[in-house]
Amino acid sequence: MIAEIVITRNTLWYETLKNLCTRFDIPFRKLNNNSVIAWEGKLNAIMSKLGIEEMITAQSKARNGIHHKVYPKLTYYPDYFSNRQFGDIELILKARTETLCLNYRPFKPDTSHLCTLCNLNQVEDIVHFVSVYPILTPYRLKYFNKKNLTENDLQLTVFIN
Ligand SMILES: [Zn+2]
Repeated sequence: MIAEIVITRNTLWYETLKNLCTRFDIPFRKLNNNSVIAWEGKLNAIMSKLGIEEMITAQSKARNGIHHKVYPKLTYYPDYFSNRQFGDIELILKARTETLCLNYRPFKPDTSHLCTLCNLNQVEDIVHFVSVYPILTPYRLKYFNKKNLTENDLQLTVFIN
């Protein structure tokens, strides 16, 4: 059997499995017909540790990102799913991830990032769009009771909640 050869030679996926156990301090027990059931728990533990490690890496990249203003300021895992309609959740997610279709596109450095819908001559990023964009003034007045939002307001309303 191929699996027996892989195990005997300590190579490919078996070597990776062994290395993951060492990395995550999970006691390693040679995989054979008698230990398969015990391995289910070990595999779940490895998957859990890999998930946590991946999450920490992703958060670190977001915190240290240089192209997006809001990533370093985000509070992770706020509960904005409860009691909200799908469309609202979609907009919040797009604002928090800076994926609204705005002119600021760090991946397109040769294009103009200025807002073309107002005459404020500002970069059209999420901060401009949510905080000062004149067309949204009625919504800011309605929901925040303010004509414009400060960065602190934005932090408290969009990026934390
Ligand atoms: Zn504008």
